[in-house]
Amino acid sequence: MRILAVEDEPELARLLLVNLSRMGFATDHAACVEDAHALLDTCSYDLVLLDVRLPDGSGVDLLRQMRARRQEVPVILLPAADSVDDRVAGLGAGADDYVTKPFALEELVARMRAVLRRPGRALSLTLTAGNICFNSVTREVCVGDRHVALARRELAALESLMRADGRVVTREALEEAIYGLEEDRQSNVLESTLSRLRRRLEAEGAKVGIRVMRGVGYRITAEPTRAAA
Ligand code: CA
Repeated sequence: MRILAVEDEPELARLLLVNLSRMGFATDHAACVEDAHALLDTCSYDLVLLDVRLPDGSGVDLLRQMRARRQEVPVILLPAADSVDDRVAGLGAGADDYVTKPFALEELVARMRAVLRRPGRALSLTLTAGNICFNSVTREVCVGDRHVALARRELAALESLMRADGRVVTREALEEAIYGLEEDRQSNVLESTLSRLRRRLEAEGAKVGIRVMRGVGYRITAEPTRAAA
């Protein structure tokens, strides 16, 4: 799940990036209209969070241009609480929803999930590997038909491995995924997270394994690995 946050207020942008990546969303940031256009032209996003008042223009105009260019990515507008006009203009320009500032992060995430769940928006939101399904919107994991509850770090590690679809995920990338920027990094947390994840998956009968690629990182494989490995 890749998100573009277009926001020029540095502290809010930082909070969005830290918290969304902590929740397992890969998040890019643009601080002005020009940078946002450049990213939208080169990357594919699942969702855009869009500030309205940007240093080089209006988020609503940016949205209008996106829709005119057939960039149909869902957009949640982030207008100031006192600007009813921005909200009306934004919805008219093709925003999927809006969350007025200041907002609680939980509220924003709830709206993001609602927007992503809408019919026609649901493509590629479910990751699969062997008999494991990972719904990247609801953050639910199933092994076969059974729902499996995993801790936050285990979920983040599993999502990174499943997104890579058998390719190697570096140690650094996995650490990025499981830590928030504000957490102290301890050298053995990645190993213990992966070892708990392996044990859980094995206990649930998952037909995948997590292999160590020594000195490089980890990858998910079609054959189970022993929890002790
Ligand atoms: Ca602004």
